[in-house]
Amino acid sequence: MNHRLQDLMQWLKQENIDSAFITSTENVFYLSGFRSDPHERVLGIVVFPEIEPFLICPSLDVHDAKESGWEYEIIGCSDTENPWEKLEKHIKNRISNVNVLALEKEHMNIERYEQLLNRFEGARFVAAEEKLRQLRLIKDEKEKEILKKAAEYADFAVQVGVNEIQEGKTELDIIAAIEYELKKKGISEMSFSTMVLTGANAASPHGNPGLTKVKKGDFVLFDLGVVYEGYCSDITRTVAYDHFNEEQEKIYNTVLKAEEEAVKAVKPGITAKELDQLARDIITDAGFGDYFPHRLGHGLGIGVHEYPSVTNTNELIIQEGMVFTIEPGIYVPNVAGVRIEDDVYVTKDGVEILTSFPKKLQIVK
Ligand code: MN
Ligand code: MN
Repeated sequence: MNHRLQDLMQWLKQENIDSAFITSTENVFYLSGFRSDPHERVLGIVVFPEIEPFLICPSLDVHDAKESGWEYEIIGCSDTENPWEKLEKHIKNRISNVNVLALEKEHMNIERYEQLLNRFEGARFVAAEEKLRQLRLIKDEKEKEILKKAAEYADFAVQVGVNEIQEGKTELDIIAAIEYELKKKGISEMSFSTMVLTGANAASPHGNPGLTKVKKGDFVLFDLGVVYEGYCSDITRTVAYDHFNEEQEKIYNTVLKAEEEAVKAVKPGITAKELDQLARDIITDAGFGDYFPHRLGHGLGIGVHEYPSVTNTNELIIQEGMVFTIEPGIYVPNVAGVRIEDDVYVTKDGVEILTSFPKKLQIVK
């Protein structure tokens, strides 16, 4: 049995939880190796403290679930069967009392909650999220290698985008070129909607790419990532098209300094808070403190946003094996938006940067 399942079973035992029903596609994948989007159908892993777990999934997924390497029982549910009835039956066949059931509460909706409420009358529901986040927080060697590969594809994607910048091209033209080239390399999924933002649009940290054309003197911001073997990358680079002015340069170099200093400071023992504050101080000292409206970074793995959250209030101590982004930004309306983002892996005594696209201010002619 894999360590992840063993850890979860151990936790159930410690907490006197009779069973856990894990339903998010991310955590099902993490625990089983089976990655599938069931849409509105029911997919989940049922774990017990002492006995073998089982997987419940749509019938049409049973074959793929077996192929994924899941070694335990798989309960398939056809579109005409009631998955909740089956779930109840298979749990009650295995254990006589269900007093405490762990769920991913954030992933439940009211309809599902009522199903469970009716079928496990009197049971207390506890949240499984925190335990799963803790498990996923530290990456093993294999996960690190996959994340590194995902980061390499992100570097490649930025290069494709940079090469595509020319008079007349819109943000969406450039995105189409990036994703086309990635698909040719076998990447079928991006970790979020690819962002290419130019000029004033780049001054919105969460802008929506559209039909705006790149024009000379604009900064062009790329924020993108790929999903590779179930794991996400996330990179941001900002380049200048043809030329830039002094104000743009000042903004860029401030972000760059904040980013590089924060990356350099990453090592076991420092807190998330200290990292955020370090970057924030550099930006504030340069006079742009009001224009850095988000946290420094976020964890990365099966999810594109997971633990740790790198904020200036999080006292969490950084440990070997964590993977997260460092992504300071400055967004001055009508002047420029710049963000620089790398994915980093915490080593025994420092940091390994997974993304490697150059960061010095680049002019695209
Ligand atoms: Mn990003
Ligand atoms: Mn990010």
